[in-house]
Amino acid sequence: MSAASTGPDSFRVIRHEPVCPECGSSDVITEDVDMADGTAETAYLCRTCGEAWPLACVTEWSVRP
Ligand SMILES: [Zn+2]
Repeated sequence: MSAASTGPDSFRVIRHEPVCPECGSSDVITEDVDMADGTAETAYLCRTCGEAWPLACVTEWSVRP
């Protein structure tokens, strides 16, 4: 795991693998894509099947018992 730790421990940036979650292809590029809410965001785009998914997501690192 990466030792790069910035910011508070309550948040964690989950970086997604540049591998298509749909077809498993690594032929992946980054593109600005239009999101459902009308904003544009840089995302991975699979050149094999056209699937797009976020580069990373920030998760609230909630500690549950
Ligand atoms: Zn794909």
